[in-house]
Amino acid sequence: MQIPAPFDYVRATTVDNALELLARYGPESRVVAGGHSLLPMMKLRLSRPEWLIDINDLYELDFILRDGNTLRVGAMTRHTTLLESDEVAALFAIVRDAELVIADPVVRNRGTIGGSLCQADPAEDLSTVCDVLGAEAVIRGPGGERVLSMPDFHRGPYQTAVGQDELLCELRFPIRPRSGSAYDKVERRVGDWAVGAAGAAVVLAADGTVEDAAVGLTALGLDHTVDEAAAVLRGKRPTEDLFAEAGRLAAAACDPVADQRGPVDYKRHLADELTRRVLRLACARAAQMQEG
Ligand SMILES: Cc1cc2nc3c(=O)[nH]c(=O)nc-3n(C[C@H](O)[C@H](O)[C@H](O)COP(=O)(O)OP(=O)(O)OC[C@H]3O[C@@H](n4cnc5c(N)ncnc54)[C@H](O)[C@@H]3O)c2cc1C
Repeated sequence: MQIPAPFDYVRATTVDNALELLARYGPESRVVAGGHSLLPMMKLRLSRPEWLIDINDLYELDFILRDGNTLRVGAMTRHTTLLESDEVAALFAIVRDAELVIADPVVRNRGTIGGSLCQADPAEDLSTVCDVLGAEAVIRGPGGERVLSMPDFHRGPYQTAVGQDELLCELRFPIRPRSGSAYDKVERRVGDWAVGAAGAAVVLAADGTVEDAAVGLTALGLDHTVDEAAAVLRGKRPTEDLFAEAGRLAAAACDPVADQRGPVDYKRHLADELTRRVLRLACARAAQMQEG
């Protein structure tokens, strides 16, 4: 199938208007942001909304704003904007690492952080980024605004806590001193979805030991961070042996499935190796920030 089922189309003018339209057209309506996940699903008839509510005019959701110790990113911020933001890269290098390997410029010019998180594809890269950075999701609906942690936001593959009549409006990232982060991904060819990927964020204490850490995996059958790896890192000095131990724990914690992208053993190997790599780089970046 290459032609979507028939649908009606309306452009929302504001967040309030989008919420009114979602309420008016009910469960058979869907918002469309970049359209790079929804439209292919409609063409395959995996999704058959009767109403498409276009939120591309909601410029109020397209922003990157530092607010004290929080970086606020609007849900309609495009991948390209995130990739090109030096402010984001300086605070959270993991975002640029990930954006560099998401799809291609055509997809990145339209696709949004909000659409990526709401699509909740298990191979989608920004969920892992948001998980390890401890981001919060700001959701608005008829009942007002609610702010959810990432564990509360995720509900499993292709499912999130965003209700049919709600909009994801913003992601909030805590800015922490002496912190560093990194993302690494193995893909079959440039621009492809991950065979496997890992992300890490660390905070170093003044004495150089790991004060806090988070490790996440993409496309490897784990929809939360690797708590065992974080626990083994905390309070220790970052060394190759420690990264290897965290990698071993990540490989043990993940639950990949064999598919056209590779067998289970290979994917577990990726969890191990990529975890070591991102921790090594995240710690080096945190040390650099400490010196700077
Ligand atoms: C060829 C190709 C390769 C790709 N490769 C990768 C990759 O390697 N890594 C990766 O992470 N992604 C990849 N993507 C996906 C890409 O990142 C998409 O941009 C993203 O998944 C969806 O963002 P979107 O803005 O296009 O969302 P849309 O397709 O518009 O929407 C996706 C879903 O989210 C809902 N939604 C959108 N915005 C909101 C909101 N603000 N509030 C509530 N619900 C909302 C929609 O109703 C829909 O259900 C690829 C896509 C393509 C086409």
